[in-house]
Amino acid sequence: MTATLDVTQVFGSNVFNQKVMKERLPKETYKALIKTMEQGTTLPSDVANVVANAMKDWAIEKGATHYTHWFQPLTGKTAEKHDSFISPTADGSVIMEFSGKQLNQGEPDASSFPSGGLRSTFEARGYTAWDCTSPAFLKEDAAGNVTLCIPTAFCSYTGEALDKKTPLLRSMEAVSKQAVRVLRALGNKSVTRVAATVGPEQEYFLIDKKYYDQRPDLMMAGRTLFGSPAPKGQELEDQYFGAIKDRILAFMKDLDTELWKMGVSSKTKHNEVAPAQFEMAPIFSTTNIATDHNQLVMETMQKVALRHDLVCLLHEKPFAGVNGSGKHNNWSLATDEGANLLEPGKTPHDNEQFLVFLSAVLTAVDRHADKLRASAANPGNDLRLGANEAPPAIISIFMGTELTAILNNLAKGKKAESAGQHVLQIGVDSLPNLPKDATDRNRTSPFAFTGNKFEFRMVPSSASISGPNVVLNTIVAEALDEIATRLEKAKKNLDQECAAIVREAAVKHSRVIYNGNGYSEEWVKEAKKRGIPNIRSTVEALGYMANASAEKLFEKYKVLSKGELHSRYEIYLENYVKTINIEAQCSVYMVKRLFMPAVMTFTERLAQTISILKSVGAPTTVQKDVLARVSTHLENASDKLAALEATLKKAQAVGDILAKAEAYRDKVFTAQADLRSDIDALEQLLPSEAWPVPTYADMLFKL
Ligand code: ADP
Ligand code: MG
Repeated sequence: MTATLDVTQVFGSNVFNQKVMKERLPKETYKALIKTMEQGTTLPSDVANVVANAMKDWAIEKGATHYTHWFQPLTGKTAEKHDSFISPTADGSVIMEFSGKQLNQGEPDASSFPSGGLRSTFEARGYTAWDCTSPAFLKEDAAGNVTLCIPTAFCSYTGEALDKKTPLLRSMEAVSKQAVRVLRALGNKSVTRVAATVGPEQEYFLIDKKYYDQRPDLMMAGRTLFGSPAPKGQELEDQYFGAIKDRILAFMKDLDTELWKMGVSSKTKHNEVAPAQFEMAPIFSTTNIATDHNQLVMETMQKVALRHDLVCLLHEKPFAGVNGSGKHNNWSLATDEGANLLEPGKTPHDNEQFLVFLSAVLTAVDRHADKLRASAANPGNDLRLGANEAPPAIISIFMGTELTAILNNLAKGKKAESAGQHVLQIGVDSLPNLPKDATDRNRTSPFAFTGNKFEFRMVPSSASISGPNVVLNTIVAEALDEIATRLEKAKKNLDQECAAIVREAAVKHSRVIYNGNGYSEEWVKEAKKRGIPNIRSTVEALGYMANASAEKLFEKYKVLSKGELHSRYEIYLENYVKTINIEAQCSVYMVKRLFMPAVMTFTERLAQTISILKSVGAPTTVQKDVLARVSTHLENASDKLAALEATLKKAQAVGDILAKAEAYRDKVFTAQADLRSDIDALEQLLPSEAWPVPTYADMLFKL
């Protein structure tokens, strides 16, 4: 029997949270720190020294020897450089030290992080600054090392954001400010802050490490670049929510424990649709903590998997022919008094407020669908969006039948009548009870209202959730800003103005509402008619994140300057190019070094067999037939390999980054897919033991 886990004791045991702060800090320091955390300002140095010292003592008691400023560069991953606490003394020994300055600020040599031209290498220093709204925590590894991690923002010396956290914090500020204005105008005088809340559900695959180790494509590209489908896929729908195997449960138990220690509220786990696919969901929190935690989730999944001789694949489409992985980014707005602003209320006033905030989201998403789409773009998602398991590349909102009916009626100037019976007058009447629409389970909508929050389902599984939330927060901030201005002017005619706001949003922006099957061809046509963008590729989507409209929006709300925006555009385009380049090079490598030699050995053996059979007068028709078919695919593969190498060379020579990315998308990527078809056909013709890499059946079904 293993000891039972006291979750309440384990949870947050490695977090320097408010409870620990209260225990360990002098009262005045504690108060000053809480104030700083609430206001998001920097900690005065005297206070910082006391906090740092308490933090160090706490960490050392828990076994820590090192600390790190933990940050989120534009790679989308996290970065850390460990420094020990040691400080030499005159007698040749050391003491353990950690100052307020070291807590507040770090200076990593940042020249090797992407900056998209924001910082030239000769002035390579960036600096990291503690984001005290996200608590410090300890990371433990399997070897027993414990490191104190300080969540930080990462900027250049001139103050430009070089990371994913800084714009996120700015966008939270923007949406808070505008939401508070709206609430004030509606008569709420007590709310001082509104937080964007996020609960990101994370999908992932697990495969046996011994298979992973034999697949260069998984190791280099994170996905299979070759592989013919297993005889069984997901058609029996027997994996989704199926009984979880012991080996996987053992992994999940360790994962939960590690996450709980770091204060990540891992809540739900289950089998996903594809074989060997799983999901975990945390309890939602404020956007920046949710973003930090999602990074920890991805990192911990990968680490813990290895302890179980498994490998965790976070790629959006590791296997062709079965579902890929995404993240469902559940998003809402909550006041500092704990009210969810997207929760339909019970009183007329609550309903009015709800409809006003709902209109803001409706307006924001319709106006800036292109930016939302861009925020979910990455090369992995190109293989997924629009395929039948993922939301289509078209942004639409699922509102459910009740809400849609209400908005439609309002748009038509009728008194909002829902379900034919109830007449709604904004500010006077209550909304009818809104049943959580069962149809939101159809999963075909990229942006679904699920009762008291919106679920953005397009987010790539391997990416930081920062980008999508920066966009969401900022576009909603803009819509709320306009609403607040109207309401502030309206003064006495508040109810009428609210009604006008909701009606106008319904008239202008209802086109983005679609409750039908988002996967259908019909919707593609309908969306075109409605003038809703259908942005199919990453290269195309990225163009919308740095155009004039994006510049205006993000500058206005001080979320990203023009320079910062363009640096991101460049970095993501470069990342696209590099990713497809790696995939192409890896394809060439595998075909030349693994597949062609294996096929040639096989044909040679078969040819020998044929001549032996012939010499004894035995029939050779079957052998000859196989040989002929294999040889044809081999020749095709050889031609296509040459074609891939030629296009790759051409693409590599293109100078302009956009033209280069387009060349990779239109030429290299397609040449590689073309080559794959012959290799996959060969896999089906050769005996299992002659095939040099593990098959889909091995990887997906032998867990
Ligand atoms: P499902 O999507 O399967 O119905 P839930 O409704 O439980 O599951 O929620 C899924 C995710 O949404 C969870 O991470 C949950 O914490 C999060 N969530 C719930 N309420 C909110 C909210 N107000 N803001 C942001 N996320 C939320
Ligand atoms: Mg969900």
